[in-house]
Amino acid sequence: MAIGFSTRAIHNGEEPDFRAGASGDVAVPIHLSTTFARLKAGSPTAGYEYTRSLNPTRKALEEKLASLDGAKYGLAFSSGLAAASTIIISLLKAGDHVIGFDDLYGGTRRLLSNVFVNFNISVSYVDATVPENIEKAVKPESKLIWIESPTNPLLKIADIRAIAKIAKKHGLILVVDNTFLSPYFQKPLDLGADVVVYSTTKYIGGHSDALGGSVVLNNEEYYKKIAYNQNAVGAVLSPFDSYLTLRGAKTLAVRMEQHQKNALALAEFLQKSPKIKRVLYPGLKNHPHHDIAASQTTGFGGVLSFELEGTLADAENFLSKLKLFSTAESLGGVESLAEIPAIMTHASVPKEVREKNGISDTLIRISAGIENTEDLIEDFRKALE
Ligand SMILES: *Cc1c(COP(=O)(O)O)cnc(C)c1O
Repeated sequence: MAIGFSTRAIHNGEEPDFRAGASGDVAVPIHLSTTFARLKAGSPTAGYEYTRSLNPTRKALEEKLASLDGAKYGLAFSSGLAAASTIIISLLKAGDHVIGFDDLYGGTRRLLSNVFVNFNISVSYVDATVPENIEKAVKPESKLIWIESPTNPLLKIADIRAIAKIAKKHGLILVVDNTFLSPYFQKPLDLGADVVVYSTTKYIGGHSDALGGSVVLNNEEYYKKIAYNQNAVGAVLSPFDSYLTLRGAKTLAVRMEQHQKNALALAEFLQKSPKIKRVLYPGLKNHPHHDIAASQTTGFGGVLSFELEGTLADAENFLSKLKLFSTAESLGGVESLAEIPAIMTHASVPKEVREKNGISDTLIRISAGIENTEDLIEDFRKALE
């Protein structure tokens, strides 16, 4: 029988070392050494030479992360965007074309549109909630599709199986950014994706105290290219952040369950309020893509958005009244956060584009933490009054 998710999260990559002289740590130590000695210049190393190339703490994390997605290979980077950049550098070359979801994480969009465009990699953005839109955007020079599901802050869902079929048909690489659901709720490799990327800064780390990114995959050719550039470019995760991420990953399952419980409870509470225009959460039966979400995930995650009646000032006022939700960007930590995309995470998107896409001035995004559900609801009830 295959061992379960939490068992892997706790044990994989961290088997105690019982060899003579080893201390049998149950938690992998933080190996800060940047270089590793050998007996003589000509003798073999113990597998480690220099920390950029391989570090024991990072290696433990890479094994754990691969196991969570049921993947053959895992690689850890200094941030989610470092992981994304290394994928692009490794799998694309000048002249190639990328098809991206039009509601991609802003930093990924900035990377593709403002940075890699200078290296003659072009990008088209389409509404990937309709898989045919991706097929229509395929050009002879297309090489890669980059999607997220659900997206941010509108919680749109892409049908990953349908998009994987289109990718196969046209010989394109499908990359899925799975940050929002984590491997606990969604395993894109099982749905046909070729490469999965994470900002481990969010749910996998889970405590808002360690920046990081990862790539997991089964394809050996892509793995070798990305691993080569992990070392060649050098955007690796530090030993200390590897340790924090290992520590966070062990409790991913229990945290995700509570994040989801709180997000659903808040979404249901908000739906009943006359002061709320609409609530966006894929776990609600009235979400336009609830059925697709349910068919490809085992849960709906901890992020929801909603639109308040009124003006930007009312939205700001609402956030200022909340006691348990810090007003902050980011998501996926144990503490609840609230933000106004129009003036925070998505402020750089032109107002017309924002409004056309449905990001109004009173849209509020919530990252539900793992506090007691009743307390979060009570905080909302008071702030709405
Ligand atoms: C935060 C985030 C990223 C970028 O990750 P960093 O760790 O901040 O570099 C990429 N994708 C998604 C969906 C994110 O939420």
